[in-house]
Amino acid sequence: MFHKYLYLLGERIKNPYLQKHLSQLMQSDFATIDELEAIQLKRLKKLLHHAKNATHFYKERLKDIDIDTMTLDDLKKIPILTKAELKAHADDLRNEPPGESLIKAETSGTTGEVFLFNKNIHWDASFRAAQYRGYSWYGIKPWEKSLYFWGFKKSFKDRIKIRLLDFLLNRYRFFDYTNEEFERAAKRIKESTYIAGYSSSIHMMAEYFKKRGYRFDNIKMVKGTAEKVYDSYHKAVKEVFGRKITSEYGSAEAGVIAYECPEGNMHIVMENVIVEEIENKAIITNLWAYSLPFIRFELGDYIVLDNETKCPCGRSHKIIKEVTGRIGRKIYGKEGVYSTININHTFKNLSFKYGIELAYSAKQYEKGKMLFEITKDESIDEADAKEKLIASAHEYFKDDLDVEVKFVEYKEGKSKKQKDFESFVDEEVTA
Ligand SMILES: [Zn+2]
Repeated sequence: MFHKYLYLLGERIKNPYLQKHLSQLMQSDFATIDELEAIQLKRLKKLLHHAKNATHFYKERLKDIDIDTMTLDDLKKIPILTKAELKAHADDLRNEPPGESLIKAETSGTTGEVFLFNKNIHWDASFRAAQYRGYSWYGIKPWEKSLYFWGFKKSFKDRIKIRLLDFLLNRYRFFDYTNEEFERAAKRIKESTYIAGYSSSIHMMAEYFKKRGYRFDNIKMVKGTAEKVYDSYHKAVKEVFGRKITSEYGSAEAGVIAYECPEGNMHIVMENVIVEEIENKAIITNLWAYSLPFIRFELGDYIVLDNETKCPCGRSHKIIKEVTGRIGRKIYGKEGVYSTININHTFKNLSFKYGIELAYSAKQYEKGKMLFEITKDESIDEADAKEKLIASAHEYFKDDLDVEVKFVEYKEGKSKKQKDFESFVDEEVTA
């Protein structure tokens, strides 16, 4: 009980509207699709009226939309908002009336591309309420003891601040990923009911425990966020904790877009966001973003929606079948960041210098490493081509990128278009 009250105090300090949003979300947890769409339409109209009245940008953009009589389908008449547009018009889009409490947020993309913005208080509350509804699907109360794995280092001063707030929220956060820290984590895990954090960090810890034969049967949920969750991650986590990683899909701007239910389906938080799939791109409208309205925002992810499946969990919220990758990614070296054009140069150079022409697909799964999948061809001397390809890549990336080369069979009739570069390295995102 003590922790419940401390927790509620911590939440009140952070955001007084959180509980209200949570109880509303719990009420519509098993709503029908018609009921959910009615909620969306009502909130959409309110957001559009606000955006039109409060910003020059939307006054112009929404001038032909009759908001009062529109349907959800009419949303498609509004042009898509790109990331570049959002940044270029940010000052026009910001709506921060004096005296309104706002919460600072940022998306930190590739080097030098930090975008700062402020969230109105309901935007922030709706974001965290969506997380907590997800927790409830696993029988977890937000004040239960948790472990939190953060993906990057903070300054000492920030850590002290975070530690204090974490204490109020009954969670303990790890910043470092050393063996000593993992041993400390093992002790805390025995007293915790859930684990949350970056999937890669959780995976590292699970591998450490696996090797030492540690097993835990008290964890109700292992939540991975901000990064793609790979099958290899699930394997190690399942062995150690008896359950796979639960995915939370979202971003700093959009909030929690979808949350995975115990049946393994990613349900869209329809009460907070409208998700469209246009040419496989995720187009997001956050219904609570008033201080920076972004309507039909192109998030930068490829997704596949599933409009057929009726989930056995009983929820009618639409399902995101797959988040397939990020659009227009950069290549991350151990230190530097490179344009994908360097891959084209690498292969052109190989052809020009050595007369070797390869069909390739480049994949980056972690910073500082690159996998080149080369389509097998009888005319290629594989050992020779591999050596020369690595040499060619070295001309562009030096020692900053470890290159691995694999020869793979050509697959015909693949449903997905072969991409010349795919990155599975996530931009660091903070909320
Ligand atoms: Zn479900």
